[in-house]
Amino acid sequence: MLETSFINIHTHHSIHIDGTLSILNCFPEQIKIGNNNERGISIGLHPWHVNKDNASSMIDLIKTVASEKNVLAIGEIGLDRTIDMPLDIQEKYFIEQIEIAENLNKPLIIHCVKYFSELLSIKKRVKGSTPWLIHGFRKNRKIASMLLEQNCYLSFGEALLFDKNNQNLFIEMPLDKIFLETDDSENTISEVYNKAAHIKGLQLEVLKAKLFDNYKTVFNANK
Ligand SMILES: [Zn+2]
Repeated sequence: MLETSFINIHTHHSIHIDGTLSILNCFPEQIKIGNNNERGISIGLHPWHVNKDNASSMIDLIKTVASEKNVLAIGEIGLDRTIDMPLDIQEKYFIEQIEIAENLNKPLIIHCVKYFSELLSIKKRVKGSTPWLIHGFRKNRKIASMLLEQNCYLSFGEALLFDKNNQNLFIEMPLDKIFLETDDSENTISEVYNKAAHIKGLQLEVLKAKLFDNYKTVFNANK
């Protein structure tokens, strides 16, 4: 991996693109035991899936495979106010997975919808040490500041291409606390990087080098 690589911190598309280091998100049902894949992945039980009867066995499965070398992060996991699932149940599985990440010293990739103060109160309560990356960040300045104050990283995605509010917020974001991603978008990570560099008024190569440093800080330091 080079500092000239694009880093796609969160994608659901398994296609490999030269010059890109991407972290492929896998839900537990997509995990193959004995996965010796070189491909960097994240694994986690998404809040949308915790209503399944087998949530506990999914957590056990995650525990079993999470220590594998190519599992770079635990995620996407988190809290979502827009689903029909009580907060306490969402929190239970979220916290169990935070513990897995803490035990292995691997970062978390977080999905959070309208539960940011609940998210941060958990963060303060668990007093963990692994980095938290909030993926697909599209909220306002106030929420961004709250998260940054608690040492979270913010990952920006396709909204940067068209959402003026997201673009304006991105200008103010500290370069040492951000990542870029495509999630399930059809846009490429190169499009997101080019737009991000333009918004920040940076050369593409400078942005790549900065995000590469962030990647080293968050991931390599934990190896
Ligand atoms: Zn996703």
